[in-house]
Amino acid sequence: MPRRTCIGCGLVREKGELLRFVTRNGLVKPDPEGMLPGRGGYLCPSTSCVDAAYKKKDPFSRALRQSVKKPDKQGLLELVKTIRKGRLLKGTG
Ligand SMILES: [Zn+2]
Repeated sequence: MPRRTCIGCGLVREKGELLRFVTRNGLVKPDPEGMLPGRGGYLCPSTSCVDAAYKKKDPFSRALRQSVKKPDKQGLLELVKTIRKGRLLKGTG
């Protein structure tokens, strides 16, 4: 399993344990099933890592290597909660 770095806590974890996101038209689009093409960024599905990512300057743009608008934080927190209930992400939970 390939390993990727979380943009929140900076830990390296297996790709399948992380929430992937990509960019579409300059916006960050979460890709919980890892199906969308293009460069991806990764985040642990945890509220503390979402918080950590929003405290950093611009980790989304850095991870995606282009200037992107930060996604709506509340929406991302809701998604993370859904993932933690085991409804998304393959091979976890
Ligand atoms: Zn993390």
